[in-house]
Amino acid sequence: MTVAVSAESLRKVYPGSPPVEALASIDLEIQDNEFFTLLGPSGCGKTTLLRLIAGFEHPTSGRLDMFGESLLESPPYKRPINTVFQNYALFPHMTVAENIGFGLQMLGTPKDSIKATVGEMMELVQMSQLADRQTSQISGGQQQRVALARALAPRPKILLLDEPLSALDFKLRKQMQLELKRLQTETAITFIFVTHDQEEALTMSDRIAVMSNGAIRQIGRPREIYDRPADRFVADFIGDTNFLSAEVISITGETAQLRLSSGQVVEAHANDGSQGKVTLALRPEHAQLTAEGAGVLAGTLREVVYFGTDTHLYVTLDDGDEFILRQQNAPTIDNSFTAGDRVGVTFPARAAQVLRD
Ligand code: ATP
Repeated sequence: MTVAVSAESLRKVYPGSPPVEALASIDLEIQDNEFFTLLGPSGCGKTTLLRLIAGFEHPTSGRLDMFGESLLESPPYKRPINTVFQNYALFPHMTVAENIGFGLQMLGTPKDSIKATVGEMMELVQMSQLADRQTSQISGGQQQRVALARALAPRPKILLLDEPLSALDFKLRKQMQLELKRLQTETAITFIFVTHDQEEALTMSDRIAVMSNGAIRQIGRPREIYDRPADRFVADFIGDTNFLSAEVISITGETAQLRLSSGQVVEAHANDGSQGKVTLALRPEHAQLTAEGAGVLAGTLREVVYFGTDTHLYVTLDDGDEFILRQQNAPTIDNSFTAGDRVGVTFPARAAQVLRD
């Protein structure tokens, strides 16, 4: 596999009083032809990392390479990288076709070649019908497609996308998520996508880097990040999670034996040699409600909320902690529990994950 972008001890401090350390010390490898997402809350440093890759900002220290060569001496316009911004930044007085061809024109590409590429790009984003329409007269979703086509037209090796779907309404955003994934697969260009929306990251990405406070907390495929979060921040940021206190009895390979505060012994998945008191993360859909006494945990069912496809069950455990379960409304699932019932909660071995501190 070829590495498209690599960062080593990459640090960015914005001057000021006090200075802001936007990136602490980033180590990262993004593969060629990968859909790679930087995911994290507002202010965690996602855009800063994107701007360093684009060349709009300079790092304070560290290495930043593209295809094995340092990017640091290369000005933005010499990097085979293009960016799609949140606000699209289209030229409103130009037509769809003129907007898409603009970058190529600036590069001095011959007219015939521009025409052919613009045609191809319009087909790729399904905008051929509106080629001669001014971009001030098309919808938000259509503007997004034009912005994408314009950024793809010079055939960059890497496309940076800074929250490009955030201005779209929910339904259109869903549609564009699939569209973006298709575009990335068809063009075989490396996409580096920035978002604070965990669902967006999970549905589109080959791999995700979860960031907080200028640092990368975990890099992994969507399933790894969701099922095997490395620490409490990642478990909390992505999806709903129950946290349980436990103590490690023993560890064999990636399986830990633990004692819960209720005294029950359970098995959980552990990434590294955790010891002593730990926190377990358990997804609501991985747990099941049982009769009292038959579960690993015991408590009182506080609330039952019916959602059509599934039901959310809120349990107050006997130690006072709140616990959420999500059960599919399949005919095989016992949904006869009602609020106020004494209940048990059970979960399969290794469904829980031991978190790093
Ligand atoms: P958002 O999702 O809100 O865009 P982000 O994760 O992209 O956030 P950055 O824009 O990279 O975060 O900002 C990281 C930190 O650096 C923040 O604390 C921000 O206030 C600070 N910052 C960003 N740009 C500058 C600047 N030009 N000068 C000083 N501080 C900055």
